[in-house]
Amino acid sequence: MLTNAATDIKRPRLSDAAGVDELKSELVLANRILLRYVIVDAFGHVSVRHPHVPTRFLMARRVPPGLVGLDDVREFGLDGELIDRDGAPVYLERFIHSEIFAARPDIQAVVHSHSPNVVAFGVVPENRLRPICHTCGFLGDPTPVFEIRDVAGDATNLLISSPQLGRSLAKILGDESVVLMRGHGSTVVGSTLAQAVYRAIYTDTNCRIQAAANQLGIPKFLTPREAIAAEEGSMLQVERAWQLWKEEAAGLNATPSAGSHNAF
Ligand code: MN
Repeated sequence: MLTNAATDIKRPRLSDAAGVDELKSELVLANRILLRYVIVDAFGHVSVRHPHVPTRFLMARRVPPGLVGLDDVREFGLDGELIDRDGAPVYLERFIHSEIFAARPDIQAVVHSHSPNVVAFGVVPENRLRPICHTCGFLGDPTPVFEIRDVAGDATNLLISSPQLGRSLAKILGDESVVLMRGHGSTVVGSTLAQAVYRAIYTDTNCRIQAAANQLGIPKFLTPREAIAAEEGSMLQVERAWQLWKEEAAGLNATPSAGSHNAF
């Protein structure tokens, strides 16, 4: 005879709200994971497409990633504005998310951050970011760089503060997984929230390896076919990492699996 708990597990979800609540919880953990791995600091944001309404996405209101709680998560439309205009302050750069969700129906999650390791690769045209190790086959070769001067002149504050700038960024991202933003940061996308977080963490890792390798000599990068092969089956890697990272972020495992700066 089934207990109530077992019955609940087998019962299909009857309420849309239940699925949304689950995703909101994962979004809160995603914020904490990205903070723990030093991808975001006081700034940066992560979003996920609404599971039932593809023209909406979930993202925190304007609070630092480490302080995001369930009550901070809001629904946004593809215009970048709050669905329920409750007066909550919102991120200035929300148009990064809205325009990428509009341009890329295949994408379910977006991470925007200012990791210093990554910023370095957006400012040296002679040393482009390229996939250098087996966990980073998702990177473009080379990874595209958004140059805001090309669309808004040489006197901006570098931020994506309008839908127009968001569209320009989405255009340079194209069908890639990562776009660097010169002098600013990067934006990473995924077909799941877990994949976007994984890619954000491993983009940072690739940058650190590439910078270290550059000190030693001329690196060998993945061939295009190696990159494709490395990506095959990578969702299994993503799931394994996601399980660990969620547990760490939820405080169930007090000791990180590796130092946050050395989590290769
Ligand atoms: Mn930014």
